[in-house]
Amino acid sequence: MAKFKHVLVIPYPAQGHVTPLLKLAHCIADYGVKITFVNTESIHAQVMAANPGLDEGSSRVKFVTIPDGLETDEERKDIPTITESILRVMPDHLQELIEKVKKQSDGNEDEQISFMIADLTVGWALEVAERMGIERAGFWPASASALVMTLHIPKLIEGGVVDNNGFAPKNDLITILEDLPAYKSNDLVWSCPEDPAIHKAIFKFLSSIVHHSKRTNSFLCNSFRDLEAPACSGIPGALPIGPLMASARLVHRRGSLWNEDSTCLNWLDQHPALSVIYIGFGSTTIFGMEQFYELAHGLEQIARPFLWVVRPDLTDGPVTEFHDGFLQRVRNYGKVVQWAPQEEVLAHPAVACFFTHCGWNSTLEGLSNGVPLLCRPYFSDQFLNRSFICDVWRVGLGVDGDENGLITRHEVRKKLLAVLGSDEIRANCLRVKEMARKSVSEEGSSLKNLQSFIELMKA
Ligand code: UDP
Repeated sequence: MAKFKHVLVIPYPAQGHVTPLLKLAHCIADYGVKITFVNTESIHAQVMAANPGLDEGSSRVKFVTIPDGLETDEERKDIPTITESILRVMPDHLQELIEKVKKQSDGNEDEQISFMIADLTVGWALEVAERMGIERAGFWPASASALVMTLHIPKLIEGGVVDNNGFAPKNDLITILEDLPAYKSNDLVWSCPEDPAIHKAIFKFLSSIVHHSKRTNSFLCNSFRDLEAPACSGIPGALPIGPLMASARLVHRRGSLWNEDSTCLNWLDQHPALSVIYIGFGSTTIFGMEQFYELAHGLEQIARPFLWVVRPDLTDGPVTEFHDGFLQRVRNYGKVVQWAPQEEVLAHPAVACFFTHCGWNSTLEGLSNGVPLLCRPYFSDQFLNRSFICDVWRVGLGVDGDENGLITRHEVRKKLLAVLGSDEIRANCLRVKEMARKSVSEEGSSLKNLQSFIELMKA
């Protein structure tokens, strides 16, 4: 009898990981599979506060929690601190959890965890699964190209392309695979131009994924073959199953860590098609005050309708002038929210372009909805995504810093006008949107991959 009745799914504790894995969990549950979804206690509390009733949504997806090793009120933004703590305490807690489920199953094999899907950024979970004799697959929440680069880290070190801390000593273009474009050293997935310590920490963290990835032969990717064919072919065992979309059932319960302000949807309803600039920089980007105000002034100068997500922690200082003067001045055409239902915003006909930090989820959401992108990456794979957006798929433009790295108000205005006015970019966006739609349709490559993955779990 098929033994794939109970699957454990575990994301890295951050918005950009919880969201796609929750979507995947629901896709798999639709095939009659029971899912146990493991969040850290801290993430669970935040998700439940923002999405009351999420845990009652589906009888097949059950939420459980384990601690991340930090105190309830401790800061979790520092990457080295949180990753060290996770690694120290979570593997044992995960093992205990699986043992507890087994004990409670009272010998009923259908109830016991028989398969694990682990975010590769918590790749240690695959080792826990292997130790416990549980079949497993890795899930990669970024682009397939970013995974290829990550898995090539040992070769990049061996070839002297990067040193042991991931810095490229020469400024040469980097070739990973023949069919992939040559990358600038800034495109390295662990890039963090503003902070070398973070660069090193991400590199160390990604290097550990190379080791953990040997514990599985299946790599589920939230991408689609037509978008990243060379990268998908460059990963043995790659199963591109994206773009994972929030199903109608999930749309209001996708696992946001913050309350979504849906008043912006009514606001968008009042605007003509292709008239609104949407600005959202994801869940972790932080702006210095000077940069933040340059963006604000750029938006003010362009004087077109805009919807801007300004998280309470988007800046590294208080935004007093913003509240006192700016919002008043732009009140006739600008709307600011703390957190938006982004997928619905991007699907709204009023949205004309998306000024983004190029996080992979945001990138895919923009591509799937055919929205032209203006790119301002902040760190990590966002630079690589920008290169694909601007140079490979040609669905957007980047903004350039001045001699001090500042993106001025003039640059913001100039590039927004260029993106909004480009027929070529819009045509490319519509082409990619159609490719995305086809991938997840009945005969599409992503849907077929998902179905063969379900078969693989059964085998
Ligand atoms: N998001 C959202 N509302 C917002 C801003 C972001 O729902 O106001 C969601 C967005 O749709 C995406 C995720 O948060 O699914 C951000 O993930 P991404 O990979 O783009 O960036 P990260 O936050 O990991 O940097």
